[in-house]
Amino acid sequence: MDRRNFFKTSLGATVASAAALAAGGVQARPNLDPAPEAVGMLYDATLCVGCKACVSKCKEVNGMPPVPMGQDTHADFALDLSAKTRNVIKIHTEGKGAVKDAAADGFAFEKRSCMHCVDPGCVSVCPVSALTRHPMTGIVSYNKDACIGCRTCMTGCPYNVPQYDYDNPFGQIVKCEMCNQKGVERIDKGLMTGCAEACPTGATLFGSRGALLAEAKRRLALKPGETYAYPRGDVRKPDSFHEKAVPGYQKTVWGEKEAGGTNVMHLSAIPYDKLGMPPLGERSYASISEGVQSTLYSYLALPVVALGGLTWLVKRNTSGEKEGGAE
Ligand code: SF4
Ligand code: SF4
Ligand code: SF4
Repeated sequence: MDRRNFFKTSLGATVASAAALAAGGVQARPNLDPAPEAVGMLYDATLCVGCKACVSKCKEVNGMPPVPMGQDTHADFALDLSAKTRNVIKIHTEGKGAVKDAAADGFAFEKRSCMHCVDPGCVSVCPVSALTRHPMTGIVSYNKDACIGCRTCMTGCPYNVPQYDYDNPFGQIVKCEMCNQKGVERIDKGLMTGCAEACPTGATLFGSRGALLAEAKRRLALKPGETYAYPRGDVRKPDSFHEKAVPGYQKTVWGEKEAGGTNVMHLSAIPYDKLGMPPLGERSYASISEGVQSTLYSYLALPVVALGGLTWLVKRNTSGEKEGGAE
């Protein structure tokens, strides 16, 4: 084989691989299904009164300090998630910001913490499996001993949840682990999450994903203005109920399907994008990126195979030339 034919054949193999990719050879794997005994939370923004009892309880359960302001080192002024805050209540205001849960001239509360995705992007991109999804409960946990501090998980999360602790000399990621990490283990002990336990209105409700989704859909089926007894605590065995007029909810449960679904779901009366939720389709990030990776690897194998064959041909021809005494 001469040099011209070598390049011609190599180029042919590469073009064939590229054409296969371009022709739609890239396949996303299916989204993962919810874990068989998935637990989660339902945050109903219309029930939230912004008291931040959930933020304080989260810090107490997880042994985390308040975020101070000025000389006041005792009260917590956390405005967003950080290495000191796994759960935060934010406020959205529009116009005069006078009417709760109204889109015009209104305001609304929003809870930010890990959504415990059904098919978590952070788990998929972590190169050392420091983030894992529990096979039964679906809780997404973090192992600081395995973490190498690369921060790739921060890019794999559609909700900007993982926070890097820059003050920690070993580097560390901080995020909600549903109060079930080593040393806390509230769920394993049969307790509910700290934030759900502390919430006075049931705005943060704990339970199985299935029971929470059913509760959310029950609320969406009610007529606005009708009175409903909202449960508090664990949706499967509520501590108490409180009656309240049903608001005009958005017609979907955030987290039923978004990016493959989440175990922490939200309800709101104003559009979710106003509360800072990202535009997401139903396909999980993890299914797309892992599908592309495996397709690329399989097609990249083609040029390697072609190169292997060409190398063998060159070797055979060269040895034939040598045996024939050429050059
Ligand atoms: S919200 Fe982000 S950090 Fe939490 S499980 Fe999903 S991808 Fe991971
Ligand atoms: S589940 Fe636990 S760690 Fe997560 S936000 Fe609630 S209290 Fe904080
Ligand atoms: S404890 Fe409940 S009502 Fe209070 S801020 Fe948290 S979610 Fe809202």
